[in-house]
Amino acid sequence: MGPPARIDDNIVEAIGQSNLVRLNKIPLLLAAKNENDDTITPPTPAEVVAKIEFTNPGGSVKDRIAREMIEDAERNGEIKPGVHTIVDVTSGNTGIGYGVVAASKGYDVIQIIPEPYSVERRALMMALGVKVLVSNKKDGMDGACKIHREVMQKLGPDKSWAPRQFDNPGNIKAHFEHTGPEIWEQCGGKVDAIVAAYGTGGTLSGITSYLRSKNPNFKCIAVEPMEQSLLNGDKPGPHGIQGISPPFLPTNVRIEEIDEVIRCPTSEAMKTARALAKEEGFAVGISAGANAWAASQVANRPEWKGKRIVTIFPSAAERYMSTELYESVRDEATNLPLSTFNPGTVIEG
Ligand code: PMP
Repeated sequence: MGPPARIDDNIVEAIGQSNLVRLNKIPLLLAAKNENDDTITPPTPAEVVAKIEFTNPGGSVKDRIAREMIEDAERNGEIKPGVHTIVDVTSGNTGIGYGVVAASKGYDVIQIIPEPYSVERRALMMALGVKVLVSNKKDGMDGACKIHREVMQKLGPDKSWAPRQFDNPGNIKAHFEHTGPEIWEQCGGKVDAIVAAYGTGGTLSGITSYLRSKNPNFKCIAVEPMEQSLLNGDKPGPHGIQGISPPFLPTNVRIEEIDEVIRCPTSEAMKTARALAKEEGFAVGISAGANAWAASQVANRPEWKGKRIVTIFPSAAERYMSTELYESVRDEATNLPLSTFNPGTVIEG
């Protein structure tokens, strides 16, 4: 008799159960850049651990909510494969998540993505069979929502379904029922804070609610781009951290749960994302860079000694090859000259 079989029945079952991994170098490297860093001796006062969500089938944390919202709607009898088309506005990662779940279950998907988000996101959605509509950058979120309304009207209520990820309670529920409990178990019940950015807010709100139900002293620290901090009363403005901080505060951001806000400059998010790859082998996206940067600021506070901070690495580096994060690497890779190196000489020599 061999070991018991452990085969997922389909790709939807492969969503979630991501690893939680300690950061060993980045918090220290960032501490060393502070001026009066003689108080910081290795290790940093607090520990930072990252939930590596880029290991999901669609390459991001958003697979989790795509599954939850679609399966909630199925349980409520709202949608059926082959009948309903899933229509939503996305910065790409949720659209890719819908693509994964819908291809497996047999739904059609139409996604509206505003112009500035990376072309890799559009291409991945299309590879998964999603119909992609791109909205004009100058029309902002309102433009994307207008197209969404038009598509819904055209298809009609019997044939279309809008998950509305910014308001759908299934978004928070996915993280309350899965991501939060996974972290609690992986930490063996010792976890003191989350430091993470919000897009829809589902990840931050769901994880915080669950971990606070286990540890009433649990702290929730939100990350926003330096260029736009709505939680500090800023007006909406452009920033370069794709997938986080839309130009409005979504319902799924539970403001009353947030203890502190840290602003991360886009340039630091990019630098930290590149350092995470080179120094520790985490090939991640820009928002993971922002999260690691902000979590490291907190981990370096002497009063946080002995605490454990969890952060999120939402998506993978491949999704950013056409963006400022990695376009120079991509160009260099494209133009690498053919090598004249002859391995025979080394072997013979
Ligand atoms: N990072 C990236 C790259 C994302 O795409 C998103 C979601 N749009 C987030 C972070 C934030 O996740 P949430 O929507 O759960 O707040």
